[in-house]
Amino acid sequence: MNLIMANNDVLKSTQVVIEEALLKLGYKEDMIELLKEPMRILSVRIPVKMDNGVTKVFTGYRAQHNDAVGPTKGGVRFHPDVTENEVKALSIWMSLKCGIADLPYGGGKGGVICDPRKMSFGELERLSRGYVRAVSQIVGPTKDIPAPDVMTNSQIMAWMLDEYSRIREFDSHGFITGKPIVLGGSRGRETATARGVVIMIHEALALKGIELNKARIVIQGFGNAGSYLAKFMHEAGARVIGISDVNGALYNEDGLDIPYLLDRRDSFGNVTNLFPQTISNKDLLELECDVLVPAAIENQITEDNAPRIKAAIVVEAANGPTTLEATKLLTERGILLIPDVLASAGGVIVSYFEWVQNNQGFYWDEQEVDDRLRVMMIRGFNQVYEIHKSRNVNMRLAAYMAGVRKMAEAVRYRGWV
Ligand code: GLU
Repeated sequence: MNLIMANNDVLKSTQVVIEEALLKLGYKEDMIELLKEPMRILSVRIPVKMDNGVTKVFTGYRAQHNDAVGPTKGGVRFHPDVTENEVKALSIWMSLKCGIADLPYGGGKGGVICDPRKMSFGELERLSRGYVRAVSQIVGPTKDIPAPDVMTNSQIMAWMLDEYSRIREFDSHGFITGKPIVLGGSRGRETATARGVVIMIHEALALKGIELNKARIVIQGFGNAGSYLAKFMHEAGARVIGISDVNGALYNEDGLDIPYLLDRRDSFGNVTNLFPQTISNKDLLELECDVLVPAAIENQITEDNAPRIKAAIVVEAANGPTTLEATKLLTERGILLIPDVLASAGGVIVSYFEWVQNNQGFYWDEQEVDDRLRVMMIRGFNQVYEIHKSRNVNMRLAAYMAGVRKMAEAVRYRGWV
């Protein structure tokens, strides 16, 4: 989803807020020094025999932010714009999500520089297996647990599980989450990020006194999170007036026919190319609406377009869609921002449920998963909102404070700082 990319500063801006959060919590330079970078990052070269017989070498990463709380956890993305700094920042964001949701994990993240849209099924399988062979020394069900992320899915998790099980010579379902249900996946995992975002939208609308069935929703991105979110919002009676994919955006003030679009989207979330008339992603973000949900990639709301955002509420389903300058501008304008590390935590929360079910060998029905997800999301929301109010800090800084405090405390108890 190459919308507007500027990866290189995501690490720096993450570090700025981590530092601010730790200082507010009363920690000093030594703690900041430890937590502003991942404790470990492995860079790997993965040779893959392509269908034309030629070997192509891919570069991949796995970053582990900090394991004071427990094993590290987070997805693996396959994307042409992956960088080392992006993977590092994403691993820190995973720590924050796990901290807000009170999961017994630190954050981890992986990435491979590749374009799955241009690869065959066989090439993708060989790349997925090659990645696991390359990082197998540092991952595992009690060390670091991967999951899906941008352009990876349950099939890729299945290949990765199979490869890891071969290397370790036993079936280790808890090695990875986001698996197909027949391989130990959890019911409700595929829809979890969107379900979590729905819960956050409900909370935010209640704060603003807007009724859901009167709300106009705009969603940027039609991948896993964006498409399920459009479905759930439409089913709940909200008006989804805009959606987009990498090619462009669709807009209808009376509400789009979401079931029709869902039927026609391809596996990478493309659908707008089927329509002659589209608007740009840039214009989509600036539509007048009640809830704007960036559900694509980083750096979409910047200081350039933030003054023109006309939403009452911005709920970040993507990782890092709003820059720090834009966060400030939106907050000053009274727009309620539900930050990524809170709003998109549904995925890793249900990944945790999946890992728990794998460890206990007893599986829950979807209702149980959704109910438990709701409890955790609302608890996270209340925590962040309480800090935002009582400490008089913006919602992003409040989320970072809620996200990092358990980790810092665990680091202290262990005597690392
Ligand atoms: N990739 C998802 C995220 O960024 C999920 C990670 C997981 O389930 O471990 O939150």
